[in-house]
Amino acid sequence: MNPAPQDAQTTTKDKTILASLTRRAFLVNAAIAACGLPLYAQTKAAKPTHSCIVVGAGFAGLTAAYRLSAAGWNVTVLEARNRPGGRVWSHNFAQAPELVCEMGGEWIGKSHKQIRALAEELNIPLEPHANRVWLLQHGQLHGPGDWGFSPESHSAWQRFVEQYKHYTDQDKRHLDQYDWWTWLGKIGMTDNDRRIREIMDSTDFGESIRQISAFSVAGEYVDADYLNPQSTDEMDLHVRGGNTLLIKALAAHLTPGALHLSSPVKSITQRAGRVTVSTASEKFTADSCIFAAPASVLNSVQFDPPLSPAKSLAADELEYCRIIKTQMLFDRRFWPAEDFSLMSDETSHEYFHSTQGQPGPRGILCSYAVGDKADVLASQTKVDRQFQLMHDLNAVSPDAAAALIDTVDQPWQDDPWVHGAYALYRPGQSFRIRPLLEQPHGKVLFAGEHIADWQGFMEGAVSTGEIAAQHLLR
Ligand SMILES: Cc1cc2nc3c(=O)[nH]c(=O)nc-3n(C[C@H](O)[C@H](O)[C@H](O)COP(=O)(O)OP(=O)(O)OC[C@H]3O[C@@H](n4cnc5c(N)ncnc54)[C@H](O)[C@@H]3O)c2cc1C
Repeated sequence: MNPAPQDAQTTTKDKTILASLTRRAFLVNAAIAACGLPLYAQTKAAKPTHSCIVVGAGFAGLTAAYRLSAAGWNVTVLEARNRPGGRVWSHNFAQAPELVCEMGGEWIGKSHKQIRALAEELNIPLEPHANRVWLLQHGQLHGPGDWGFSPESHSAWQRFVEQYKHYTDQDKRHLDQYDWWTWLGKIGMTDNDRRIREIMDSTDFGESIRQISAFSVAGEYVDADYLNPQSTDEMDLHVRGGNTLLIKALAAHLTPGALHLSSPVKSITQRAGRVTVSTASEKFTADSCIFAAPASVLNSVQFDPPLSPAKSLAADELEYCRIIKTQMLFDRRFWPAEDFSLMSDETSHEYFHSTQGQPGPRGILCSYAVGDKADVLASQTKVDRQFQLMHDLNAVSPDAAAALIDTVDQPWQDDPWVHGAYALYRPGQSFRIRPLLEQPHGKVLFAGEHIADWQGFMEGAVSTGEIAAQHLLR
């Protein structure tokens, strides 16, 4: 852990902001308490100045850049890809340009206040995108209303939710030692209900719940309608016309020339209160820097002075989950309802109607497969993958294969700028490595979904961009 600067003080304003941070603040406080350091002692190291280099043009980086630019700062954004948006990327098939689907981030939740406010501020309309859930288990298809969870599991869950309200820091640390699968068994959920939760919850966390910290999962589900099979669980809305429109709106508010695409950052050097960020061919110098790229690429950037060994190890330890999205364009909507989605124990895992509310008759279904299933699908040829997906869809309709026009897929685990879909906190990691990843490194602040309260969401990315910008503007 980096030593805190000696002259730092925690102000009343700091405390107000701190109080407004929920799970993130809790984790940071826990780590700080463990080391005996005041939280804002560390952020004081990055005192506001008037120029900033932002690394990464995803939601986190662009939100920060947008706020700083609006406040008159001189901002440069360096992005490795040839497009802004990072893990948000809308797609149109050439055969059906009137339809849009998402290759990355899809839903905006009703509770996602900051991204919803941002969309409103930028005049980007959102529209409903919630589904009802069919279940395909052991080859049997069950419609919404025909499946659910047992009374034993409901009672077990209610008991846990009540207990969780009184959890101390120590109880939460204890919970963090468990994986969610084991924890659900421990609180008394039945085996078959756990198997269904495994299918459903792994789509939220991107890997088997046998691998995810029970503390991470509980934080998301205790306030949700967890055992209601039709709970939308933050899968409520999306941007009309594609989520990329919100990315484009943010980028459009930057100073012309501020966004540099195809510019992977190679090194970040700090000398005499200035930060120099270098790509293969250019150098940019500013008073501060926001590193808004995933933790999975942190150690591929050379820092001088170097990152603390603890932070560097934390970045190596943080896994990113495996998700492949395959969007399938069909000449007709053969599925049973516009708001159709399907959880299945088949390889293709989850299906949902991507083009709900968009003009027909053509339509796009998405297969969303996680963990080992994602690797199986990603290893197949396009033809073999299509064969697998049509085989799995046969339980929904024998018309699927005949209606298929084309597919496009994105295996995020193979993406060179993330190496996965989103961060995955394993048992024991939340309290240990997350605070290290949040910690500023001199004048370099960090942002991104991996260190957000709404971790794994666009909301999380936006909120960390807002926080980083606020720190500099204070
Ligand atoms: C398949 C999938 C489904 C999802 N579904 C949802 C959903 O339904 N709802 C939801 O809210 N969220 C969802 N998410 C998560 C959401 O998309 C992310 O949390 C969010 O977009 C992350 O934003 P970010 O700015 O933190 O990171 P990113 O979007 O990854 O942005 C970081 C940027 O840094 C760039 N970069 C990396 N290395 C360098 C370098 N060396 N130099 C310069 N730039 C670099 C990257 O190219 C990238 O553009 C999903 C994500 C995936 C992959």
